[in-house]
Amino acid sequence: MTQTLNVDPAELAKFSDLAHRWWDPESEFRPLHQINPLRLEWINGLAPLAGQRVLDVGCGGGILADAMARKGADVLGIDLSSKSLKVAQLHALEAQTPGVAYREVSAEALAAEQAGSFDVVTCMEMLEHVPDPASIVRACATLVKPGGWVFFSTLNRNPKSFLFAIVGAEYVLNLLPRGTHEYAKMVRPSELAGHCRSAGLDLQGTRGMQYNPLTRHYWLSSDTSVNYLFATRKAAVGA
Ligand code: SAH
Repeated sequence: MTQTLNVDPAELAKFSDLAHRWWDPESEFRPLHQINPLRLEWINGLAPLAGQRVLDVGCGGGILADAMARKGADVLGIDLSSKSLKVAQLHALEAQTPGVAYREVSAEALAAEQAGSFDVVTCMEMLEHVPDPASIVRACATLVKPGGWVFFSTLNRNPKSFLFAIVGAEYVLNLLPRGTHEYAKMVRPSELAGHCRSAGLDLQGTRGMQYNPLTRHYWLSSDTSVNYLFATRKAAVGA
């Protein structure tokens, strides 16, 4: 069966071109390094990671996958950017991170192969880069075990998020390379909630990510107007 891959090659190229800098905390990936402890603690507080089988979809250089493995999880990171995966693998080797593996496979293809095999699935800062985010949400829902957790984070789509995430981050503060995010692809919480509901994922909690450019400090809040996170759960069997 030939299936069109749910991927935009131009989006992958953006990340592949920068792949050698994934682990440089002062690079274009600085924001991801800075928000990593925040999202990690939020995830680990809701779904304690130690001993869990975890899948990280769109793992990039492995910033979150590596940190989840260090919490004692058995982590598989998947992405379609081979260069990023090589960097992730090399980092795990150099840093001697236990319990992390990487594979080049789409979420949809892995879902056809390993349905219901992960306790926790994470998919962070990735939905706004794919042609069909609903298909990724469905794949994540298939991959998680009944009763398991699926976490998403992405960028909201409204005038404020345009101003902060594109104009501010890419043009004023130069936090991200220009063209990193496309307005039309950003995902409203109501849209993501709809995709989750259709896929059988129940929303358990949301958080927003806040940034102060003067102090260069990030924190989590209840304001989901720009960057936000969703915690969802697949219904347990018989529930
Ligand atoms: N989740 C990581 C990286 C986010 S950057 C983190 O938050 O730290 C977005 C990542 O999504 C990049 O690594 C890019 O290669 C990947 N990506 C984009 N489209 C994809 C697709 N269709 N399938 C899998 N990964 C994809």
